[in-house]
Order: sequence, then C-alpha cells, then structure tokens
Amino acid sequence: MLNKQDLQKCIHCGLCLQACPTYVSTGQEAESPRGRIYLMRQVYEGRIGWAQARPSIDACMGCLGCQTACPSGVPYAKLLEAARAEVERYARTPLQRFVRKRAISTFTNPARLRLLLQLGRAFGIRRVPRWIAKRLGASETAVQLPPLPARTPPFQTVYPASGTPKARVGLLLGCAQRVLFDRVHRATIGMLTLAGYEVHVPRGQGCCGALWVHNGYPQEARRNAHRLFQAFRAMDYIVVNAAGCGATMKEYGLLFQGTPLQADAEAFARRVRDVHELLYESDLPDPKRDDSLCVTYHDACHLAHAQGIRHQPRALLQRLSGLKLVEMEGAEMCCGSAGIYNLLQPRLARDALQRKVRHIRETGATLVASANPGCTLWIRQGLREAELPIEVLHPVEILAKAYGVMP
Ligand code: SF4
Ligand code: SF4
Repeated sequence: MLNKQDLQKCIHCGLCLQACPTYVSTGQEAESPRGRIYLMRQVYEGRIGWAQARPSIDACMGCLGCQTACPSGVPYAKLLEAARAEVERYARTPLQRFVRKRAISTFTNPARLRLLLQLGRAFGIRRVPRWIAKRLGASETAVQLPPLPARTPPFQTVYPASGTPKARVGLLLGCAQRVLFDRVHRATIGMLTLAGYEVHVPRGQGCCGALWVHNGYPQEARRNAHRLFQAFRAMDYIVVNAAGCGATMKEYGLLFQGTPLQADAEAFARRVRDVHELLYESDLPDPKRDDSLCVTYHDACHLAHAQGIRHQPRALLQRLSGLKLVEMEGAEMCCGSAGIYNLLQPRLARDALQRKVRHIRETGATLVASANPGCTLWIRQGLREAELPIEVLHPVEILAKAYGVMP
C-alpha cells in the first residue's frame, strides 16, 4: 500500500532527473521519478485512477538511480513496489494478469526456462517471438534468445573450505543464473572456498521472488521466499552472486511487513551477503595468474543503488596487478535490462542499451565486468549488435581465473 509519509518526502527539487534513464531518453516529466511520485500521489488522493498512471509506472526501470540521487530520502523502491502491486490489481484485465504471471513463472522456473531455450534453438528462433511480446503488452520484440550452455554435472551439496572453515555459507542458485551462468556459480564456489568458507548448495531452494515482487506480485514473492527460509535455515550466511536477487533478499523484512513471518524474514535478510562483500572482507592469497586485461565495470543497479555495493567489486578486481580498470561514463546508469523490462518496454530498454554500449566503447576496454545475469545478457547483445569484440563476465569469473580456481 502507498504510504502518505513516503509520498510527502518528495520536495520536487528535480535532483533525481538526470539520474533517471527514462527521463534522459524522453525528457518527459511523466517519465521522471518526480513525475511518477506526483502521479502516485494523485492516485493516493483519489484525483486519478491507476489506469491513468499505469503507462508511466510501467515505463519505470526500477533501477533506483533516483533513490541514490535524492537528497530527501524518498524511499522510491518501496513506493514503486506498492504502486506496481496496485497497478496489477486495479489496472489490468484478468487475461493480462494471467499472461504476465505465466511469463514470470516460466522465467523463474529453471526447468521451464531451459525447455523454452531448447525449443527456441530446435526451431531456429533467435528472438523472443513477436506474439509473446504482444501478449505481454509490448509493441515490438527486442530480446534475443541467449545460447543455452551445455549441461554440467550437478553441484555437490558441500564444498569444503581450504583450511579451517570460518563460516558455513549457502549459495543461492537462482533461476536464469542457474540455467545460463553455471560458470559464475562454480567461480563463486572456487573463490569462497579459497577464502575459507565452507560452501553448501541446499537442495529445493527455488526462486528468491525478485521478479515477482518487482512486477507487482508480492504474495507469489512471499511464497518463494518462504521456501528459502527452510532451505537455508542452517547457514551462517546466504551468499548471492546476482544483484537483483541479493537486493530483494535483503529486503525480505519489508516484503513480510505486518505478517506473522516478519521477524523470520528480517532474521533471514540479516544473513544475506553479496559474494563481493564476503570476498572483500577475506584475506586472499596472491593470484596465480597476472594476465594483462583492460576492464570496465558496469554497476548493476541492484548492487549499486539497492545494496550500496560499488567499491568492493572494483577493489577485488584491482588486486590483480595486470588488470587495468577504466571507469566508463554513466557506470551507474541502468543498461535497460531490468528484469524483464527489455521484453516489456523494448524502445526505452534499447535506448538505455545503446547509451551503455557507447560508454563501454569509449573506455577502450576489452572486457566488461557485470554482476547481474540480466545485465550481462543484455549488454552482450548490445555489444554483438554493435560488432564490438568485447566480452562480458561476472567479476568473480575474472577473479577465479586469476586465482586458479575456475574449474
Ligand atoms: S527507478 Fe530508475 S527509471 Fe524508475 S524513476 Fe527511478 S531512476 Fe527513473
Ligand atoms: S524524488 Fe527526491 S530528488 Fe527527486 S524530486 Fe523528489 S525530492 Fe527531489
């Protein structure tokens, strides 16, 4: 539910405007954070309905660049989640809700996602089909289907620490990350065990609920989260290597606010760590390789703006003496991937991607470090379309290779 105090925190100063990718693309007040908060307030006061505010709420990337820029402490993430839930409830038809829920449940189910990609490959389909995009309310289709990596052996349940274990950590496998970025998980396990953690991969963990809550379905998100409470109950920390998942899990207290599980959710959230946080606090040995690399770092929104993690990945990369880190302009500006935003809002997503690709090109880097699967896929697509021979990897993959723990 929207909250009056939260809405009133906005003093209309406009300091967030240039941090907003949709405002930068359109120059329209309604596509700015200030404009969106104004519309939410109009709905709250009963002057307009959600159907009128919906296009502007739908066009928000949820990147939270505005929350970082705001000097008044407007809790934009909280406002947006409340607005999205109300839009789903009051401004969509049952058919629209059904289609959107089917799409989210496919993307958040590794078996279904894998099957979808296998079918795409079997029938030579390279892009998300137009009819699917249309059913989801998008005017065109922008997203290419990523290649499906070969299946690898299942994960062990436990990976022992090198030396005396300092803590037991449970690794979240996630959905897209599990299907498409198995290598990131193996790199994470390699680095964490090297840093002295005993890594567990609990069975039956499922989705963290991020895609659900970001698209207005908190109840489904809570159902998913609840399964994680069981799966990770014996862990000292729950470690996450996908920015969007980690940000959502750290906010479980808010997701369960006012429910009997609020205290459990808050206790769980206190144990969630992004992989960079744990590695940054660790004494790591010297790297085994010292390849000469020119890297630029893309700040995934849900790592930088939602979790405040900017320094740790950069500092970890800079431990590699052969690695030159070149900052890109607008490193913290959303690339337009934003969960399934690039599927739902292709025009604005493409605009953000082209900006990101231009800024990457200007650095002269040959490698982009990106800590979120959606960003990685989308930026790879943009670089491929621009015919730039630049690779995109998770920072942990770069580290694991240098430390000799990449299986
Ligand atoms: S979340 Fe991102 S896209 Fe949405 S209003 Fe804020 S800055 Fe703009
Ligand atoms: S959201 Fe914050 S930065 Fe943006 S107009 Fe309101 S008070 Fe100013």
